[in-house]
Amino acid sequence: MLKIYNTLTKQKEEFKPINPGKIGMYTCGPTVYDFIHIGNIRAYTTPDVLRRYLEYQGFEVRHIKNITDVGHLTQDDIDQGDTGEDKIERKALAEKKTPEEIARFYEDAFREVEKEMNILPAQYFPRATAHVPQMIQMIERLIEKGYAYEKNGNVFFDVTKFPEYGKLSGNTLEKLKVGARLEEHPDKRNPWDFALWLKAPKEHLMKWDSPWSVGYPGWHIECSAMSTEYLGDTLDIHTGGEDNIFPHHEAEIAQSECATGQKFSNYWIHTRHLLVDGEKMSKSKGNFYTLADIKKKGFSPMALRLAILSAHYRSQMNFTWNALYQAQANLDSINNFYNRIINYAPSESDKFSNLTVADFVKNFREALDDDLNTPLALSVILELVNHGNKLMDEGLMGNPAEVKKTLETFAKILGLRLEGIVVPQEIIDLAEERKEARTGKDFQKSDELRNKIDEMGYIIEDLKDNNYLIKKK
Ligand SMILES: [Zn+2]
Repeated sequence: MLKIYNTLTKQKEEFKPINPGKIGMYTCGPTVYDFIHIGNIRAYTTPDVLRRYLEYQGFEVRHIKNITDVGHLTQDDIDQGDTGEDKIERKALAEKKTPEEIARFYEDAFREVEKEMNILPAQYFPRATAHVPQMIQMIERLIEKGYAYEKNGNVFFDVTKFPEYGKLSGNTLEKLKVGARLEEHPDKRNPWDFALWLKAPKEHLMKWDSPWSVGYPGWHIECSAMSTEYLGDTLDIHTGGEDNIFPHHEAEIAQSECATGQKFSNYWIHTRHLLVDGEKMSKSKGNFYTLADIKKKGFSPMALRLAILSAHYRSQMNFTWNALYQAQANLDSINNFYNRIINYAPSESDKFSNLTVADFVKNFREALDDDLNTPLALSVILELVNHGNKLMDEGLMGNPAEVKKTLETFAKILGLRLEGIVVPQEIIDLAEERKEARTGKDFQKSDELRNKIDEMGYIIEDLKDNNYLIKKK
C-alpha cells in the first residue's frame, strides 16, 4: 500500500484514488524561455517515478503537464508575479525572434531532455497560449461569485474572500501581514491579492481580447483552467517543485476551489530544491547545470537519473561531480550484470539452485510504498546485482531468466534504461571453447581465442572458476 507525503496535510497518507483504477495527475511544466536545469529535471523525475509505480500496480494514470508560454513574469521570486517583464518576451527581444519562436524552441528542447532522461511523456502538454478562452471563462466565474474584482482593465483575486488561503503553504493572511511588504499595484484592494488578468502596455507582444481589456493572463490562472479542462474539478495528484508551493500553488487552490466549489487536489507532492556543491544554483555562480553540461563531461543521462534517485525527493539533494561518478559506477555495474544475465547459460551445477527473487520484490515494493523511498529501492537493485553475480561466479544460478525479468521490472519502475547486449552465438561458442582450453590449462589456445573474440568486437572478462563475462567493446 503506497503511502505518500501530502504537503496539504503535512503527513504521509495512504494513497486512495477518486475513481478505482484511474488517476488524474497534474504537473506544473516549464516556462519555455530557457533550457531546464538539473533541479527542474529532478522535479520532473518525482512524478515520473510515482506514475511508473502506480502503472506497475495496474492504475491507469492520466498525466497532464502544462507548457507555460506566456505570462510568467521575471519578478516572481520577490512578489506575486504581477509585475516585471515577461521572460519569454525579454528573451525574444534579446534574440530578435518572436515570442512564439522562443517558446517553441525551448519547448522542443524540454521535450528532448525529458526523452533522454527517460521521463515518460505526459498524455498531453497543454500550452497556456492555446487556453486563454478557458482562463477568461474561469475569471468571469470568479468575478460573478464575488471572489475577484476588476479595476482599470486589470482583474485581481481578492484573497480576503477565501478564508482557507494559506492552507497549503502556511502563509495565511495574518502571517503575511507581518511579513515582507509587497510592491503594491495601485489597482489592488489588498497587497496579497494576485492578478488574474492584466491590461497590456502598448509594447507588450502577447495580448488577447477580454471583457476587461486587451491584455494577458496572470501567472497562476493557466494551471487552474487547464487542469480543470483535462482532469475535471478535483485532481488526485498535483506535483511541482517546492518553489511552486507559494504563491503559485496556493493561488491555484484559491482560484479553483472558489470557481468550482470543489476540493482542487487530494494530494500535493513537492520535490525539494537541489543544491550544487552545497550552494543554490545560479547562473552568476557558474554552477547552473543543464543536461548538456552533464553529457559534455562524459556522463550518461541515466547516470544523472540514478544520482537523482539516490536522494529522496523530499531531501535537499546536494549535486556534486563525485556523486555523479559514483552514480555512473553503480549504473555500469547494473548494466554489466544485466549483460551477464542476458547471456548466462546455466550449467549442470546451476540447475539445482534458484535465486529467490520474491524477497527482493518485497523489499523493493516496501521501499517505494514508503513515500517513494528511491534510495532504498536502488539499494535493493544493487543487492540483487551483487548477490546474482556471486551466484553466477559460483555456478549456482538456475533461474537467470527470472532474475533478468525482475531486474527489468525494477529498472522500468525507476525509469532506468538498461543497456544490455545480446552476444551472438558464435562469440559464445568461442568463449566456451576458450573455457575448455583454460580448464585444460592450454593457455596458448586460450589467448588465441581471446584475440579472436577481441577482433570480432567483444571483450572477455575472466571470473572465478573459469567463468566469464562477455562485453561489447
Ligand atoms: Zn502550475
